Amino acid sequence: MRFEYDPENIFAKILRGEIPNKTVLETEHSLAFEDISAQAPVHVLLIPKGAYVSYDHFARDASDAEILDFNRAMAKICETVGVEDGFRAITNARRDGVQEVPHFHLHILAGRPLGRMLE
Ligand code: 5GP
Repeated sequence: MRFEYDPENIFAKILRGEIPNKTVLETEHSLAFEDISAQAPVHVLLIPKGAYVSYDHFARDASDAEILDFNRAMAKICETVGVEDGFRAITNARRDGVQEVPHFHLHILAGRPLGRMLE
């Protein structure tokens, strides 16, 4: 699979500081910020700082340090935003996954019952 990263996507602009964001956490290789159109009381987007289009791109090409940083950032977010009653972490990829922004991101949703996703 060949991944083509568009450096003009919205999250690339956020990473370059061209668009403001409400930062939840910043680490060496990752950034987490509030989703502009929150679907739950907690709706955080966690992204790697590297130029990865989708989860499969990130999992294949990111360094061990980036992958570890991303996962530890995920745990830190869960500690700070209040997910005692549970959460949902999802990622959409490409056309069939209905991915709007082509920079890999994990949605972390919490703060209300989220309903069943898969039957
Ligand atoms: P996707 O459909 O790609 O998985 O989700 C993209 C998410 O990015 C959506 O939930 C959308 O609300 C969020 N989003 C789009 N533009 C912006 C923006 O400029 N700032 C922030 N914080 N979130 C955005």
